[in-house]
Amino acid sequence: MSDVVTIDLNDGWTMPVVGFGVFLVPEDQTRAAVTAALQAGYRSIDTAALYRNETAVGEAISDSDVSREDLFVTTKVWNSDQGFDSTLAAFDKSLERLGLDHLDLYLIHWPTPARNLYVDTWRALERLQADGRVRSIGVSNFEVSNLQRLLDECQVVPAVNQVELHPQLSQARLRRFHAVHDIVTEAWSPLARGALLAKPPLVGLAEKYAKTPAQLILRWHLQLGNVVIPKSVTPARMRENLSIFDFEIADDDMAEIAGMDTGTRIGPDPATFHGA
Ligand code: NDP
Repeated sequence: MSDVVTIDLNDGWTMPVVGFGVFLVPEDQTRAAVTAALQAGYRSIDTAALYRNETAVGEAISDSDVSREDLFVTTKVWNSDQGFDSTLAAFDKSLERLGLDHLDLYLIHWPTPARNLYVDTWRALERLQADGRVRSIGVSNFEVSNLQRLLDECQVVPAVNQVELHPQLSQARLRRFHAVHDIVTEAWSPLARGALLAKPPLVGLAEKYAKTPAQLILRWHLQLGNVVIPKSVTPARMRENLSIFDFEIADDDMAEIAGMDTGTRIGPDPATFHGA
């Protein structure tokens, strides 16, 4: 991953700090979108069994000249597949759809605490990692209590926790916990699905740095130490979202952006979300 800025994971692997997310990209548009993203310079792709576009992601990867070793592919086990054996089976199906022989990162998509299966599911991920079928294992939408249970009852510390995170929901407590346990914070909906782009103070600050509000938000994430996976089906925006390494937000402007935090989610609450 020579030209790509990466972050070290707690298991010795690295991952790009900017990746390309494909949630809500329809299956019939995903191949073209991922192809355009790879051409724009993305080397990390974030999908999930739920997104029903793993096959198209795999086709774009196979079409591309980028070597497999330069790519970082993430997918996730869906809630209804949680449990030890069912997770192993779901992993096989995801890998087959993607057309890959190993995965870079496999995540538990949601903790769904009422099912009480995420510990068994995590043990399946530990097995997959021990067998060399996935390099890094992590979780998504886990809260401190869910992470603490894995730390208490399991062997491997998650490499990554992928959570909703943007200026309106900066997840300060969770990020502090991650820092203590060397877990990388990965921000989903890093742009809050576009909801903040026309809001102050982002518009004024973006002008000050001669960047767009989207670039300003993504740079804010990087300066907090987050990995980001913005989604766009628009090639010009794909390039824009990668062009965030040539400026630095001053501390007082970082604080002004932090002032936007209202703790408001745009997605479900992990404590209660059980999604089919
Ligand atoms: P994002 O915050 O990435 O926002 C995507 C939206 O912003 C799209 O409407 C896109 O429009 C628009 N956009 C992107 N770039 C720009 C730009 N430079 N200027 C203006 N508008 C822009 O939201 P997502 O919810 O898609 O999150 C990103 C990824 O996170 C997902 O694709 C998925 O991989 C992951 N995710 C994970 C979840 C989980 O539970 N683990 C939950 C939700 C998301 P357009 O495409 O039309 O260009």
